[in-house]
Amino acid sequence: MRGIGTMVEEARCLNPQCRRIAETRGLCNSCYATARELVSSKRTTWERLEAEAKVAPRKYKASGAKEWLMGIRGIKKKGT
Ligand SMILES: [Zn+2]
Repeated sequence: MRGIGTMVEEARCLNPQCRRIAETRGLCNSCYATARELVSSKRTTWERLEAEAKVAPRKYKASGAKEWLMGIRGIKKKGT
């Protein structure tokens, strides 16, 4: 039993005609592979896809995520 009911809303592919489980940057493996292909063949760019909300921002992946999750960033010193 999976995918039925309203318990957990799984992230879906940003492609409205696809709606499979999102694996990378808001896209399913298939759509992500296509996007990557288009980017690598210079037919589009990640920046453009991001601007059009067709992929999730790269920050989902790295850049500070570890620090944030570990609570290293943004820790305020108490008082003085
Ligand atoms: Zn997809």
